[in-house]
Amino acid sequence: MQCIKCQHKGVITLQHGSLCKQHFINYFEDKVFKTINKYRLLERSDTLCIATSGGKDSLTVLYLTKKYLQRYQMKNKLFALAVDEGISNYREQTLKDLEEFCTNHDVELHVVSNKEEFGITLEDAYAKNSTNKKPCNICGVWRRYLLNKHARTLGATKVVTGHNLDDEAQVILMNIFKANTKLAGRIGPVSGIDEHDLFVQRVKPLYMCSEKEVRLYTLLKGFNIKFTECPYSKQGYRHAIQDLLNEFENKYKGTKQGIINSFLSMLPLIQEAEKNQSASIKQCVKCSEPANKEICNACSIKEIVS
Ligand code: SF4
Repeated sequence: MQCIKCQHKGVITLQHGSLCKQHFINYFEDKVFKTINKYRLLERSDTLCIATSGGKDSLTVLYLTKKYLQRYQMKNKLFALAVDEGISNYREQTLKDLEEFCTNHDVELHVVSNKEEFGITLEDAYAKNSTNKKPCNICGVWRRYLLNKHARTLGATKVVTGHNLDDEAQVILMNIFKANTKLAGRIGPVSGIDEHDLFVQRVKPLYMCSEKEVRLYTLLKGFNIKFTECPYSKQGYRHAIQDLLNEFENKYKGTKQGIINSFLSMLPLIQEAEKNQSASIKQCVKCSEPANKEICNACSIKEIVS
């Protein structure tokens, strides 16, 4: 396995051939920067909130957003925001790694928690919930709520997330399998079709990078990451989709990229059909955050587990 660019030892084989360490790093960074430029993810006037967890995706997107700003001599304000869900033997460690990373890279870090906001940790909420909600259902709703609310309060105009190509291909399939056609228009490199003062737009610079590529990038760059998995990760519907997609990708290379490409070609039509959504956005009667019904999903869950 030799690098197709310089004949040094290859570290990865991609569809167009193998690449050595340095050429892979260049290829990966170029791909992220091209995604940012193509979809206009970052503007000079933006205040950027990087949604972080201490995992490989969020540290990569934090590092590369900073690098992008430096390359283009952009002076944007940037800070990191993390959610402590309250998951024992997991989140404490990733938050510790995150703090160290932010200190080393001179990034301001804010940490908010389920316990402070909702009065209960994720694991206690899961134990008390009388519905069939899985931990990931509760976690996802609360995390999106906290990120949007605190990013906005801290003055951000964009939330930058570490979603990669695998994450996105999984969500596209999940929405198709569950007939969630309304949600389809809210995914893509720029999330959300709702232009509303209370929503902070979410952008995804790693949209075209596979999980395997992100993992290799962090290893080659020497980021201090433990690669631990959330103890609940195997319980979710997403995990079954992830297994299915990985099996398919192993047999038929390019499956995940094919899903993304098909979706992107349909996205303008889906968004056009959903364009009038923002008119129906209300404010939750309990917390005043944006909601599509009287009580937002985050407050509804809080009521169930209180
Ligand atoms: Fe939350 Fe599920 Fe992710 Fe764990 S795997 S952090 S419960 S969304």
